[in-house]
Amino acid sequence: PEPIHVIGGGLAGSEAAWQIARAGVPVVLHEMRPTRPTDAHKTQDLAELVCSNSFRSDDALGNAVGIIHREMRRMGSLVMACADSHQVPAGGALAVDRDGFAAAVTRAIHAEPLIEVRREAVDGLPPDDWSSVVVATGPLTSPGLAAAVAALAGEEHLAFFDAIAPIVHKDSIDFDKAWYQSRYDKVGPGGNGLDYINCPLDRDQYEAFVDALLSREATSFKEWEGTPYFNGCLPIEVMAERGRETLRHGPMKPVGLTNPRDPLVKAYGIVQLRQDNALGTLYNMVGFQTKLKHGAQVEVFRTIPGLERAEFARLGGLHRNTFINSPRLLDGRLRLKAMPRLRFAGQITGCEGYVESAAVGLMAGRLAAAERRGEEPAMPPATTAIGALINHITGGHIETIDAGPPSFQPMNVNFGLFPPLGEAPRSETGKKLRGPEKSKANKLAMSLRAERDLDGWLGVAEPAAAAA
Ligand code: FAD
Repeated sequence: PEPIHVIGGGLAGSEAAWQIARAGVPVVLHEMRPTRPTDAHKTQDLAELVCSNSFRSDDALGNAVGIIHREMRRMGSLVMACADSHQVPAGGALAVDRDGFAAAVTRAIHAEPLIEVRREAVDGLPPDDWSSVVVATGPLTSPGLAAAVAALAGEEHLAFFDAIAPIVHKDSIDFDKAWYQSRYDKVGPGGNGLDYINCPLDRDQYEAFVDALLSREATSFKEWEGTPYFNGCLPIEVMAERGRETLRHGPMKPVGLTNPRDPLVKAYGIVQLRQDNALGTLYNMVGFQTKLKHGAQVEVFRTIPGLERAEFARLGGLHRNTFINSPRLLDGRLRLKAMPRLRFAGQITGCEGYVESAAVGLMAGRLAAAERRGEEPAMPPATTAIGALINHITGGHIETIDAGPPSFQPMNVNFGLFPPLGEAPRSETGKKLRGPEKSKANKLAMSLRAERDLDGWLGVAEPAAAAA
């Protein structure tokens, strides 16, 4: 039969190719290295880890990425099998010997008779006679292919770097200090005038906040990432450098908002948070994109009243990153609506991280193979980690979604992407839990629900073993 073409032999592309071959369908994997290098890769191995050697937490009972590890192992992931066999000690994390890991993936792919590896760039629209293609070219997609995708999708739907504002778990915000209100009580489509969460600062708090911002160290923006700032997304510390009052006239503008607890006292500055996911469990700090180091961000942002105990689903950053506005552009099966023979996988879809990229590659490979075999498999439930991630990327399985979330930003898998529990877990004596105890119990309950629902979805027949 005609092969499926996978473009990009990174974390996502290697996993996609493996899954396609395992389903009995031939595949051609096109990898441009070593003929064409990227600014981050150093070897010619498939699935090279460009930075850290960690796959993060391996705890499948309390950590969302640990759950996705478990799910990928259950689905015969090549990336997980090679990671497991090249582990190095890292406490509760799964870290790997990077060379051993990438060499093992490369060997397994080359040894698989249904996979042909071609070391070449596909630097434009894939030829018309490739009827099924998985585009897995990653955050450093070659310019020619990026231009072809932009032409198909619309320039405004392809980003070349992400300027990210921190995202907070709503249930970690202190509502004794924060309140819901839209500026000037404006009611937008689907809103009720209470769309934002507001955190007020008095003059002393504001001054201390600006001092804290200015004294903390920012990460360096490597030369190859030398994209000029757009005015709409200046890092807040750069804004603060331009003048002590700049933030009060920008993202911390206090006008049009009234603190219901203190209606007569005007706040000096207000931080607003806006809903970030359809479930309403995550909120982003509006206009707070930043290059501050992660530790400094946690320290400085927790000085904001209401955010003293904030838990961050992701911190701010500025990176070179090619990704598409997936909720608008892709259907529920990761196909480009404008050209369904192209399916997307990995970081270019707007997931973030080695594991997530490989997980989306795994699903894209399975979907492409099933389509070629004339099957129409059910999608994983949104209560599984892999289902929650795909849901985030595609904007839900509902094909009618036209708009997608207002700001689509790449994200790691996290519990905020899971549908809330029907009933909150209680203590053994039946008491309502609070604080860290509640959070721990919720995570455990979500982990167990994910395991049960994955088993239900896969059925009992699925083998647990992988390759390599
Ligand atoms: P990649 O692994 O980058 O694979 C894409 C592949 O496509 C590459 O091999 C590339 O050579 C190839 N390619 C590109 N264009 C073409 C073309 N036109 N034709 C053929 N081949 C092509 N994530 C983490 O979890 N931890 C980290 O520490 C981390 N650090 C990062 C550091 C940097 C500098 C960057 C850019 C990203 C980092 N990431 C990190 C994010 C991300 O998880 C990884 O980049 C991950 O490798 C993404 O997987 P992928 O398969 O989507 O892309």
